[in-house]
Amino acid sequence: MFRNASKKSNHNNTRLYDVLGVSNNASPDDLKKAYKKAAMKNHPDKGGDPEKFKEVGQAYEVLSNPEKRALYDEYGEDGLKNGMGYDDDFMNDADPFDLFNSFFNGNGFNKRSGKKRSGDIVKPLRVSLENLYLGTSKKISISRNVICSNCNGKGSKSGNSIICSGCQGRGMKVMTKLLGPNVVQQSQSVCKDCKGSGETVSEDDRCSTCKGEKVVQEKKIKEVIVDIGMQNGQKITFSGESDEAPDTEPGDVVFVIEQKEHPKFKRNGVDLFYDHTLILAEALCGFQFVLTHLDGRRLLIKSNPGEVIKHDSYKVISEEGMPMYGKPFMKGNLYIHFNVEFPNSMSSEQVKALETILPPKPLLSQQVSDMTIEECEETTLHDVNIEEEMRQKQSFQSEAYEEDNGRFGGQGVQCAQQ
Ligand SMILES: [Zn+2]
Ligand SMILES: [Zn+2]
Repeated sequence: MFRNASKKSNHNNTRLYDVLGVSNNASPDDLKKAYKKAAMKNHPDKGGDPEKFKEVGQAYEVLSNPEKRALYDEYGEDGLKNGMGYDDDFMNDADPFDLFNSFFNGNGFNKRSGKKRSGDIVKPLRVSLENLYLGTSKKISISRNVICSNCNGKGSKSGNSIICSGCQGRGMKVMTKLLGPNVVQQSQSVCKDCKGSGETVSEDDRCSTCKGEKVVQEKKIKEVIVDIGMQNGQKITFSGESDEAPDTEPGDVVFVIEQKEHPKFKRNGVDLFYDHTLILAEALCGFQFVLTHLDGRRLLIKSNPGEVIKHDSYKVISEEGMPMYGKPFMKGNLYIHFNVEFPNSMSSEQVKALETILPPKPLLSQQVSDMTIEECEETTLHDVNIEEEMRQKQSFQSEAYEEDNGRFGGQGVQCAQQ
């Protein structure tokens, strides 16, 4: 083979170069590019041949190591087996996926496409209950990184790049931390100098548009469709519209619905809850009121004749709740929660009048005899705010407890000193 003519060796020392599709005077950068291309093309997750993928990894593993490469150039694969102590299958033990992953930045690696992936842009989207009931669309401004069109993401005027000195082109830096004698912890992180690309641009060659950053910021107005019946926390995703970066698959732009509080309605899934307060006369003698729904319709709510509404009770109107997401013609229920407001006091005339109407009170004589009443003690009922009362008692008790503890603590100290 022509490219091998200059080599003194008569061993086969071209196969690994052929696997990567480069000549035997390829630079480390050429090798790197060739590996990336070949590994990408042959990745099993992309439908490539696993054997071929492994071969590509083996070839790069050898040729990217100057010592191994020299050995291979001189003596071929036999030289590697003897010189490096490999057994017959000289790279069989190494995991070709490990190499690939380290190349493509570990964490962000997306198995499906064989590319690392940029992070998602996640934004909350505040939506009123009315808009979730009716559906709406919102125009949202998003800024994201896009590949610089001036340099096509190279970052340089010339299109050249140099291997990052911070990470030797790996894109990752290995941090070694000494945890104790003979205990060393190794961790990997994305190289800050090159942001994981493994390449940097020399200062005077930087692209004037992106200043060597390879990407520029772009502002875009997105129209976000909020479908009828969407729920708090539901996501609206624009696939692949997140930040662009060289050799990277953009992540998603994700809007997360944040349902605004409504002054009148509460929501639980597809059901709606509505609080309504009745005065005693309405609770006893009937009521009607107009409820303005989320879509502006007016619903007439009225009691059945002769019906008494109890305090803290519920009534339901079927299928006047929230529309279901994906089935907007089906709706949940509307529950109405009634509070009944009692009068604070009544005149003796009102009491007499009521007594003639209301069911009779139980007479005292039915409970106890006159004799016993004379033996009873008189009492007075006071008003009380029971929550407040209990809170005060609680804090009084905990104060007393602390005092106790302080006293005992003091004794403890004295004991220790003795
Ligand atoms: Zn770097
Ligand atoms: Zn540029």
